[in-house]
Amino acid sequence: MAEVMRIDHIGIAVNRLDDALPFYRDALRLELVGVEEAIEEQVRIAMLQIGETRIELLEPLSQDGAVAKFLQERGEGIHHVAFSVDDLASVTKRVKEGGAHLVYSEPKVIPGSRAMNFIHPRSAHGVLVELVERYHEMGEPNGNR
Ligand code: ZN
Repeated sequence: MAEVMRIDHIGIAVNRLDDALPFYRDALRLELVGVEEAIEEQVRIAMLQIGETRIELLEPLSQDGAVAKFLQERGEGIHHVAFSVDDLASVTKRVKEGGAHLVYSEPKVIPGSRAMNFIHPRSAHGVLVELVERYHEMGEPNGNR
């Protein structure tokens, strides 16, 4: 099949989760699904459910890493848009054949959860596009919640 199915989530770079959650969680009343740290990317991530998609708030853990750099250069704002795909390998192969540049040469795999890669903004008209294949649908009892 190899289809892009829907928007999985929208990633928003913020300076501090503690300053962003009162708005997204408390004022907008989006359900906070979870908070996790991605040490390799040097970010802390808060996931908020919004219908069938999510908002991913990204707080840098240090001054290293792509999100910290993004904040230094551009300030807070939309960092990436994630598309849910049913077959990451096939979709990445197809966009590569179309001339797009991927950020990682191999997909990043989080065992039991998901695999992902990013399309470089210069190949996607100024938008950093994340492609994510989830091994469970969001919202299933044993899914990635
Ligand atoms: Zn993301």
